[in-house]
Amino acid sequence: MKVKKKVEKPNQISSTALKSQYDLIVVGGGAAGVAAAIMALRKNMSVLIIEHTSRILSKVLATGNGRCNFTNYKLDKTAYYCDDLDFVDGVISDFDANAIVEFFKSLGIYPKDRDSYVYPSSDSAKSVVLSMMMELDRLSCHIAANTKLHDIKKTGDEYLVLTNEGKFRTRNIVLATGLKAMESTGSDGSFLDICQKMGLGIKKVLPALVGLGSEDPTIQYFEKIRVYAKVSLIIDGKFLASDTGELQFNDDGLSGIPVFQLSHRAVEAIYQGKPVILDVDFMPDYDREEVLGIIRGFVGKFKSKSCLMALIGLFNEKVAMGILKKAKVNPDSSLEELSDQAILDIVKTIKSDRFVLSTYKGYEGAQVCQGGIRIDELKPNLELKKYKNIYAIGELCDVDGICGGYNLSWAFASAHKAVESMA
Ligand SMILES: Cc1cc2nc3c(=O)[nH]c(=O)nc-3n(C[C@H](O)[C@H](O)[C@H](O)COP(=O)(O)OP(=O)(O)OC[C@H]3O[C@@H](n4cnc5c(N)ncnc54)[C@H](O)[C@@H]3O)c2cc1C
Repeated sequence: MKVKKKVEKPNQISSTALKSQYDLIVVGGGAAGVAAAIMALRKNMSVLIIEHTSRILSKVLATGNGRCNFTNYKLDKTAYYCDDLDFVDGVISDFDANAIVEFFKSLGIYPKDRDSYVYPSSDSAKSVVLSMMMELDRLSCHIAANTKLHDIKKTGDEYLVLTNEGKFRTRNIVLATGLKAMESTGSDGSFLDICQKMGLGIKKVLPALVGLGSEDPTIQYFEKIRVYAKVSLIIDGKFLASDTGELQFNDDGLSGIPVFQLSHRAVEAIYQGKPVILDVDFMPDYDREEVLGIIRGFVGKFKSKSCLMALIGLFNEKVAMGILKKAKVNPDSSLEELSDQAILDIVKTIKSDRFVLSTYKGYEGAQVCQGGIRIDELKPNLELKKYKNIYAIGELCDVDGICGGYNLSWAFASAHKAVESMA
């Protein structure tokens, strides 16, 4: 029996002889660009993908912790940041979660629904990448890897795309280069120079879905633990939003899904030099009075117990230790030694422990970026107002979503909107 070689590099591109003219040129071989290419090829268009690294779909391999959360059945404009949410709505309601699932089924990828978050049945991002690669191959997509785009020139009804591998003529162009999130996959923001040369308005690019940094030394009391908590964002003294989930303490800041969900606005405010605070509630399922009642109950019942041993009935030992240190209470002192003020300090720390945020992690640690080509540069079908038949899709546009499959959904829905508009 012959055993097939294991696929080590699912996104490896085999070399193709390129033509000089295509119906569509896609710049950027990420999720959005490859989806657009497949959709256009299925309309019998000839397609060339120009990718400046040696691989396509590299970032998709890393999505959803290697499992690829490719859409969400609760797809809705309110999950996005954009200056015009109706613009987003016009794109995602045309190609909603069911349409995205059908698109993947057409590639042989069946869905797994986890509380509305949709993953491939295989739980493997690699299977998503392999299926997309096989479809490109089946439909004879041409891919110019390691190719740098120098310029785009209009010639009559067509565009001339100038690269280090030669010139290509085309009627339609899709710009899908992403921004700078996880730069090591090729999304390095290099295309923004060409956008500027084209006279396109760009909103400041900053990381989003990213960990936040704090210089508060008390963060180290929590020894890099992961804990269920509710976190609230306070900017300029005003409460803005909160999220609940697994909070990760790091030596120099905080991360985890609830922090990522608040990071768009936190990063923007930190960049603008505004005071930003993250409020942590370690017992979100109990209100302050209930927590006070629990601690007072402990004091009444377990007088000789140490404070640390009392709190391990509520928290993991490291969390309990962090809370007591933060409240400036000796963990070894007995409950009967606690003053009324010390009890209130413990409750305050449990329900509202605050950290001043001063920085954010860089692009490599970000799942997406905020900013990009301004929405007012685009028609509702994602065509550039200044350039007929050139479309901008995916993360390159100034649209970013929260965690939960919303960013890949935007990549696929925007690809669909652009390709459907092509004659
Ligand atoms: C670790 C991680 C986990 C994530 N998990 C999820 C998830 O589970 N669900 C979800 O919805 N989203 C997730 N995301 C976000 C999601 O991956 C992105 O929103 C999505 O991949 C963006 O697709 P894109 O095609 O617009 O851009 P990109 O994926 O950034 O692709 C851009 C492509 O263009 C190429 N390129 C860049 N500049 C040029 C140039 N000048 N010339 C030619 N080519 C160029 C790049 O090399 C790259 O191949 C995650 C992101 C990360 C980093």
